[in-house]
Amino acid sequence: MLGDQLHRRIPPLADRRPGEVRVLLVESEAALARRDWHRQRLHVVLASMRRFAAELASEGFAVDLRRAPTLRAGLDAHVAEHRPTRVVAMEASSWDGRRMLDAAGVDVVRSDRFLCPADEFAEWAGGRSGRLTMEDFYRWQRRRLGILMDGDEPAGGRWNFDADNREPPPRDGRAWPAAVTSRLDDLDAEVLAGLPDHAVGADPVGIWPTSRRAALARLRAFVDEALPRFGPHEDAMLAGEWRLAHSLLSSALNIGLLHPAEVVDAVEDAYRSGAVPIASAEGFIRQVIGWREYVWGLYWLWMPEYRDRDELGADRPLPAAWRGGAPTNMACLANVLAKVDEYGWAHHIERLMVLGNLALLAGTRPAEVVDWMTARFVDGAEWVMLPNVVGMALHADGGMMATKPYAAGGAYINRMSDHCRGCRYDPKRRVGDDACPYTTLYWDFLARHRGRFAANHRMARQVAGLDRLGDLDAVRARAAEVRAGLDAGTV
Ligand code: SF4
Repeated sequence: MLGDQLHRRIPPLADRRPGEVRVLLVESEAALARRDWHRQRLHVVLASMRRFAAELASEGFAVDLRRAPTLRAGLDAHVAEHRPTRVVAMEASSWDGRRMLDAAGVDVVRSDRFLCPADEFAEWAGGRSGRLTMEDFYRWQRRRLGILMDGDEPAGGRWNFDADNREPPPRDGRAWPAAVTSRLDDLDAEVLAGLPDHAVGADPVGIWPTSRRAALARLRAFVDEALPRFGPHEDAMLAGEWRLAHSLLSSALNIGLLHPAEVVDAVEDAYRSGAVPIASAEGFIRQVIGWREYVWGLYWLWMPEYRDRDELGADRPLPAAWRGGAPTNMACLANVLAKVDEYGWAHHIERLMVLGNLALLAGTRPAEVVDWMTARFVDGAEWVMLPNVVGMALHADGGMMATKPYAAGGAYINRMSDHCRGCRYDPKRRVGDDACPYTTLYWDFLARHRGRFAANHRMARQVAGLDRLGDLDAVRARAAEVRAGLDAGTV
């Protein structure tokens, strides 16, 4: 079993009883060394693996949980020691993982961790002409799975409640639901004591579940307390609030502690019982059966070439502040980086419009951004980060996934957050020492890629805006200073 398949019902194990099989789990030293992981990310995976192994052992299974130089070395050592007649695994969730299992001669069974398996997504994609839009995929999922449907019609009369779910942050100082936490135990302490020295970020405080029981408790608490308030402000950002009404279920989903079907069922039941408004239920279900499954399908459709995409020729390093080497004067960026450090998490608009947007506008190398996000978020994995970063945030696939880049100046962040009030920069200014770096870089980005985007009808209005700027030369000169400042950690 791989470290993101920690569920008793996965196909190779579901119908097995103790005595019939021996279960192998490997902690790979190469995987631990591969990136500057967040401590909470490593803790979530390692503690969940060890807790899962202990649960299987208490059920009576023979469990071989071993540390090895690599996953393959652990598998080979296990085979040499136990001489199994057959090794069976569920499909890995990464391209390289699948190649490794194939090369090792493992019998691989189909993954059941998604509602739309990759081969069914490929079939859906193959039957379409033109762009593979998330909205089309999402409606196809709703219909074929019968989720939030009243007969042939979408529940609530509309497929999409996005228009209701883009409200700016409330400024009334309201309290948001507190995250459920678990007390850390001896197993957690042992995991934390053994983390590699190069791991970064704050230690966990029990927010991210490391057992199925804890994950189910988080699901219940989310549906009861946060979901009713999820919808309207799902895109809002507040400096003093990290969670708002987000589910915090992504790490549990991505390592197998929860299955998307049970999450979606719980949310739909809450809507049907009248406890949750349709805009919140639909907005959340869209993330799970829409976005999450769409990026999973695209990952398998477009790998392995997709991970090398860099259609905009982005060639700059990560900003110094991201690497932990410098502070930043940008209030929004400093706030989001602090949240990532403290929790190993930031919500989707903070990832897309603060981090991803800056990397896009500055021209940061896609592979570095993918690597950073995979390592720093508790829910990071290649299959989720590649499409979200390469396709959605950085437009590095040239538009295979998104019709236009999610490029925005400071005005967007000012509208959707309270960050700008406490910032030394001015979101309305594009030149001068107090110009917002996002605003400056936004115009510079459009100017740099004018030829490409002028032909995109969804970008034409933004590109035409360049002609109304009387100070474009000054903007571009300031942008060069901003980029140098991002490199040096002085912006
Ligand atoms: Fe961020 Fe610009 Fe607003 Fe400062 S002014 S918080 S840098 S968007």
